[in-house]
Amino acid sequence: MSMTDQLSQEIAALEAAARDTDACYEFIDDLAYPPGVQMAVNFTADFDAMLLRRLLKEPPMQLSQGEFGGRVGIWRLIELFNSHDITATVFTPGRICELYPKAVAAATANGHEVADHMWEHQVPKDRQLEADHLARSTKALTETAGKRPVGTRSWHSQDLLLAEGYIYNSHGTAHHHPYYRHDGNGENCLLNIPFHYAIDDAMFFSFAWLASENAAQRVTEPGRVMDMWWDAFLQQYRQGGYLNICLHPFVSGRAMRIEALDKLISRMKTLPGVWFPSCEEMARHCLEYHPPRAGEGGK
Ligand SMILES: [Zn+2]
Repeated sequence: MSMTDQLSQEIAALEAAARDTDACYEFIDDLAYPPGVQMAVNFTADFDAMLLRRLLKEPPMQLSQGEFGGRVGIWRLIELFNSHDITATVFTPGRICELYPKAVAAATANGHEVADHMWEHQVPKDRQLEADHLARSTKALTETAGKRPVGTRSWHSQDLLLAEGYIYNSHGTAHHHPYYRHDGNGENCLLNIPFHYAIDDAMFFSFAWLASENAAQRVTEPGRVMDMWWDAFLQQYRQGGYLNICLHPFVSGRAMRIEALDKLISRMKTLPGVWFPSCEEMARHCLEYHPPRAGEGGK
């Protein structure tokens, strides 16, 4: 085979792969909100405490940063959201129910949504074990929060999530708006509520994040990050768009960041028509007014 033929074959294979992936997505181009709403902002808190840090085998000093999230940070975030009448979504691993049950219960008691974030912040490769982890996490969250979770932020298989009654995942970054993902033939269709690392506190503030070297440390001035997020908010506000702000209690629960977030939220509230729903409310809105067109639709 000539070089040109080989190249043509490789390009054809790449194009076919792109078509297959594209066939799994269904975007909501005409996203519309309830009357009077210009834009929705989801505040989400990934309440990992030290679980991810433990998986990464981080040393005790760094593990204790995670503990701060469970002891102090989560409570400060709940207080902040309450003070602004914001319904937030707390994504948390099932095992956090063993470590910080009072904080998980307080989130629902204060009207916030508690959603799944995997049993112990990982999805096993073995399918049976994966199903077991998902069932365990769902059971623990149901018992501790007093309500069965309907959302997840995880790598779990969509068919397993649907079988457990989940209505959305908040994990992908393929679009600014919520969108659907299915098997390519419309089956196992699940709504994805997107977030992005550029609107994730850990990327800017988390010292020693993901076992990074000293040269890669991130301790950015809170005001600078809030200005960046304000710009993202404003750009989406003009378009009637959407923003998902991803916070971690061990990161944003620190005093100066709570203060900066308080100012950012107050600034957002100066504009009319900003809606702060939970991810569940956002998901139910999309499912009702923008249901999937492919297959049997979100079965
Ligand atoms: Zn996490």
